[in-house]
Amino acid sequence: MENQKILEDIFIELRKRYNPHGWWPAETPFEIAIGAVLTQNTNWNNVEKAISNLKKLRVLSPEGLCKLDNRTLIEAIKPAGFYTRKSKVVKAISRIFKSLWVEEDMFEIRKKLLSIKGIGKETADSILLYAFERPIFVVDAYTLRFLKRYGFDNLVDYDHVQAMFQNAFPGNVSLFRDFHAVIVEHSKALCRKKPDCNNCFLIKCKRAADAGTP
Ligand code: SF4
Repeated sequence: MENQKILEDIFIELRKRYNPHGWWPAETPFEIAIGAVLTQNTNWNNVEKAISNLKKLRVLSPEGLCKLDNRTLIEAIKPAGFYTRKSKVVKAISRIFKSLWVEEDMFEIRKKLLSIKGIGKETADSILLYAFERPIFVVDAYTLRFLKRYGFDNLVDYDHVQAMFQNAFPGNVSLFRDFHAVIVEHSKALCRKKPDCNNCFLIKCKRAADAGTP
């Protein structure tokens, strides 16, 4: 219960500062899934270039990418880096999407996604949350770093942090989406690798309090 209150306060403060609307721009759930794969180890600008190439080829659909030859696929997604590995994941995800049905159980979809080499929990859960609108929280490196700095000392691992959010706000898809988005925004704006605590508005953050700032 205490965690719920702290997380609520954090969300309110972050939400005042950052607008998560349109945070994951995409025309279809499948495009979100492909973006989630391409964004691994690169920035979003590079993902946009790769997505744009796929759109120009008119292959940004499960069927289109399943049929596309590997060479053309690799060439198209090259801007996103790690293109040989990512091309295999893109192919695998396209095959899975072709056989998925909309109402399929969230944990079944997650199991299928995690069975693909190159898809870990963060990517699988991003796809589930943003593409399938399922109530699952995405935990990334930004989230872990931010929470630890804020004062959550007992974080164990991915599953533990995810459960903390999901227990605090059960089934709240839109909050999970927005919360993840504003944490990422804050981690890029102020709570960077070297945090700018002097200019941070989160006055209850433990790290800032320890340092006597803000
Ligand atoms: S006060 Fe510093 S450590 Fe805390 S959230 Fe803000 S930038 Fe991050």
